[in-house]
Amino acid sequence: MSKHAMWTANQKRTSGNVPKPRHGVCGGPRALGLQPLLALLLWATSLAAAPAGAYAWLVQWRHANPVWRGIQLSVPDDRAADALIAEIPKLETRGVNALVLEIDYHFAFKAHPELRLNPCLTRDKAAELARVCREHGIRPVPLFNCLGHQSWARTTFPLLAKYPELDETPGVAPGNEGIYCRSWCPLNPKVNRIVFELIDEIADAFSADAFHVGMDEVFLIGSAHCPRCRGRDPAKLFAKAVKDLHAHITHHRKMEMLMWGDRFLDAKTMGYGKWESSANGTYPALDRVPKDIILCDWHYEKRADYPSVAWFLKRGFRVWPCGWKNVEATTALINCEQAHSGQRMLGHLCTTWSAVRIPQLADWPPVLTAMERWPMGKRPRE
Ligand SMILES: [Zn+2]
Repeated sequence: MSKHAMWTANQKRTSGNVPKPRHGVCGGPRALGLQPLLALLLWATSLAAAPAGAYAWLVQWRHANPVWRGIQLSVPDDRAADALIAEIPKLETRGVNALVLEIDYHFAFKAHPELRLNPCLTRDKAAELARVCREHGIRPVPLFNCLGHQSWARTTFPLLAKYPELDETPGVAPGNEGIYCRSWCPLNPKVNRIVFELIDEIADAFSADAFHVGMDEVFLIGSAHCPRCRGRDPAKLFAKAVKDLHAHITHHRKMEMLMWGDRFLDAKTMGYGKWESSANGTYPALDRVPKDIILCDWHYEKRADYPSVAWFLKRGFRVWPCGWKNVEATTALINCEQAHSGQRMLGHLCTTWSAVRIPQLADWPPVLTAMERWPMGKRPRE
């Protein structure tokens, strides 16, 4: 069962809402793993584009946080944001210094009001949440699921519901029967025109300096049903989608880009299942995408080793491993993280997938475990 399937079961139980799918610190240029001069130039360039206050905050945050101790959760509306705002001081006390906030279509988009999925988060509340996070030393990272996860069960999410011509499998499987999640077509130029506007609105509301684009569990890619993509290499298609987003988010918006790592892992050599690694030909895309992308390497089962962590590091990427609710698995993953500690090993991200309510977040056992194992003073080895 995928994490989203488990998450959805929880979501149904806890909210009754329509289910939706679900740096080094950056330590400056060295963490980019590039030649020092080039890395310094890239880093300085990124710093040159944001308001002075925001950059000053980010520079301080990076200096103070050699390890990223994060939590991922969904913030689908203002009520959830208020609940989270109330918990921020406690999360700071625990040592949490980053929050990945899944928004998706639950946002009061202005450019595309037809793509709002209610309930939704307003711009003002997002700005308030981001401000409170920063006041408490926590870096907010909004998340918008790109490419895959455009439907869940019988519900097709707004982009493909309103613009079915953007669907990778247009007209196929009405009601999504037999489809895990729909994907958008990475070769349809209209997709990026719309999606970049959605990303910009969310990023503006949060004054974001980092953005997570999702991109996990993409099964429908290079479909025979798509006139543009049929017969094409899934790895090239996936890499194109990643590079298009990277160009917008990193070059144009001067934000850092994060994404889930599963489509870059070869299921055959990694020994993971088809959810947390790729059995559909996308994994060679790893060689085609920029190495300043932060890979969120999620694994929720207890294993003796998590070979993807060393694999991504060896290939020059920064890695932010992610666990879920199983504390033994979280401990095993953190053992692996610390065995491969270094500037490009960022720390640990606790995903929640609705297994915990916001008021209990600061006392949730996986969070307590991660905060204890990656204390604030513990720095990655050189
Ligand atoms: Zn296509």
